[in-house]
Amino acid sequence: MKQTYELLLFDADGTLLDFDRSEHAAMRKVFARHGYPYSEELLQRYRAINSRLWRDYEKDRILKPVIHMTRFQQLFSEYGIEGDGAAFNREYLDALAAEHFTIDGAEEVCRALSQRFRLYVVTNGVSHVQRRRMRDSGLEAYFSALFVSEELGVQKPRREFFELASSAIGGFCREKALIIGDSPTSDIGGGQAFGLDTCWFNPSGRPAPVPPPTWEIHSLRELPELLSPREA
Ligand SMILES: [Mg+2]
Repeated sequence: MKQTYELLLFDADGTLLDFDRSEHAAMRKVFARHGYPYSEELLQRYRAINSRLWRDYEKDRILKPVIHMTRFQQLFSEYGIEGDGAAFNREYLDALAAEHFTIDGAEEVCRALSQRFRLYVVTNGVSHVQRRRMRDSGLEAYFSALFVSEELGVQKPRREFFELASSAIGGFCREKALIIGDSPTSDIGGGQAFGLDTCWFNPSGRPAPVPPPTWEIHSLRELPELLSPREA
């Protein structure tokens, strides 16, 4: 099959940017600033609370501000920390925006691909956090545009997210677009439902989602070869 992709839609967190490392670094800094105890166990508990709130939000059980208002409040009450969870959340987001660790190979792969494809970012998250991290990481220069869920008012895997992003991309055509991301639901499921070819970034070797993605890679460095022009 001859590949005819022209547009590459990249997820950001866990695909180009190392969110887990940024989250940990930002959390440690803000906890230290307040003199609150911080541990790996606390971080894991925060992640569990945060994931549950995000799932509730995706199922329309809560509104987005509830996530930001309550995730640290709940964590603080479980750990007996006296603090303002909502204010702490704002400080945490500012600290998070300043951390921009990249996934191995992201810079060189984006640079190489940007010479042959139009690159876009499709990301869920807070606008200033995502935009600043893409800018500070040096990756932004390779992208024609960034689509951030907070700005679109809807997030992946919702169809409206992909409709809004694609309608803002000049000459968008489903057959010529490939979405690349680490999330089986947001990126692969969302992309499939919108009729896109999908490339699952699976660095830790998890079992593939069903239905399977069009492509699966374990390192970003596989992408230039995968996307090189070929005939069969
Ligand atoms: Mg991701």
